[in-house]
Amino acid sequence: MTRTDYDDFLYRIRELHDLHQIDGWLQWDQQVTMPAGGSGDRAAQMATLSGLIHERLTDPRLGELLDRLADAPKLDDAQAANVRETRRDRDRAVCVPPALVQDFARAKALAFDVWQAARPADDFRSFAPHLEELVRMAREMAAHIGYADEPYDALLDEFEPGMSAAAVQAVFQPLGTELRGILDRLDGAPEPRTDFLTRTYDPARQQTFCRALIADLGYDLERGRLDESAHPFTIGNGDDVRITVRYNPRFLPSALFAAIHEAGHALYEQGVDPAHRRTPMGNAVSLGVHESQSRLWENMIGRSPEFWAHYFPRLQALFPDELADVSAAEFVRAVNVVRPSLVRVEADEVTYSLHILVRFDIERALVNGAVGPDDLPELWRERMRHYLGIAPADDRDGVLQDIHWAIGSFGYFPTYALGNLYAAQLREAMLREIPDLVAQVGRGLFQKPLEWLRERVHRPGRLHPAPELIRRATGAPPDASHFIRYIRTKYGVLYNQAL
Ligand code: ZN
Repeated sequence: MTRTDYDDFLYRIRELHDLHQIDGWLQWDQQVTMPAGGSGDRAAQMATLSGLIHERLTDPRLGELLDRLADAPKLDDAQAANVRETRRDRDRAVCVPPALVQDFARAKALAFDVWQAARPADDFRSFAPHLEELVRMAREMAAHIGYADEPYDALLDEFEPGMSAAAVQAVFQPLGTELRGILDRLDGAPEPRTDFLTRTYDPARQQTFCRALIADLGYDLERGRLDESAHPFTIGNGDDVRITVRYNPRFLPSALFAAIHEAGHALYEQGVDPAHRRTPMGNAVSLGVHESQSRLWENMIGRSPEFWAHYFPRLQALFPDELADVSAAEFVRAVNVVRPSLVRVEADEVTYSLHILVRFDIERALVNGAVGPDDLPELWRERMRHYLGIAPADDRDGVLQDIHWAIGSFGYFPTYALGNLYAAQLREAMLREIPDLVAQVGRGLFQKPLEWLRERVHRPGRLHPAPELIRRATGAPPDASHFIRYIRTKYGVLYNQAL
């Protein structure tokens, strides 16, 4: 049997997939187990690998194959999607000179190490030159890739294909107004008790609980693992999908909800169609959709009263002294407390998206050249006051708090808030189609919601662009009204107040 063009193409995209996975394992190792002294060598290894990936993706023979396959009459929908998505990735890559790709990879690895030391030391000045360098390179890349309206569009498109800064702004502006209105109406509401969340919780027992919990959700620990890192993340695809959390002995929700969140990401990656492994069809469609999975599990299921009706007695059994004087209802109120705070990863559902609006405004201005790194600490405080009414005293809880800019990920942040919006819309559709969803969750049974997500979100891979995937899954195009309705209903009940 002769090899077809599609066979050749498949061989090449599988090789590319493998190289991307290897790059992921180098990142995992850097953040989880690598000794500090290894950072210089690791930066070189990642630069080499990035160069290799770029070389493979921009290989003229891949371009010729794509041209021929574009006209091939016999491709099925999945094959056509693989061709289209590889074309998209390749078109972005061919514009960027290989030397810039390697320089960027090296600069990112070094900036990450500097950031890791600068954050605890509250030392923005040491990080600023690295940030400046990364922004300069990101702007250069945007210029090579091209954009319709502003440099930021070229970077955003990597994470949320087809989305522009103006389109994000059109969604975020009214979202910000709605959320600030809800926050205002909650201002002065009686505060639930939260004292017990900051008692001392043994990290080893926290880990025991998290591990059992994520296994219940459907996360397969035979094809994954749970580790610790400074910043929780998920990495991998298919049969090896790993998650990390950090255990804070003095703040119980931190690891609990990070574990559910990351398991939500991991369920997506473990749930891709096995028939399409190592191809674009076996990968996530966008970061916004990825985030919708983590937020749906973490917040909409994992912070619901029915969820804790099942799990609170188990948590209490593990921490009998610490939680002796706490009821399940008090626990639910406490883990859903709405309070403007400084740190994004610990923000509640009402204020979380406002944190994203802070970052979107800043990185858009940074990438478009309207502000420089030196302006950031003060701009950060100004935007925080604007959206959340509070500002950090230092940079540790301000501009230094996130990993994203330290690893050159500009244009990533909006996908978190888009994920919230997609998640609420998916949840509404799921509730329509699984009438006993609440009862299932109340018994610690997650197979029905997981299977619903597998069928409508995980297995389709990159068959359709994100907005079309959401439309097919929910019967309507993406729309922020579902999220606002969800927030008003949930917090109206929790705070016993019309929102
Ligand atoms: Zn996430």
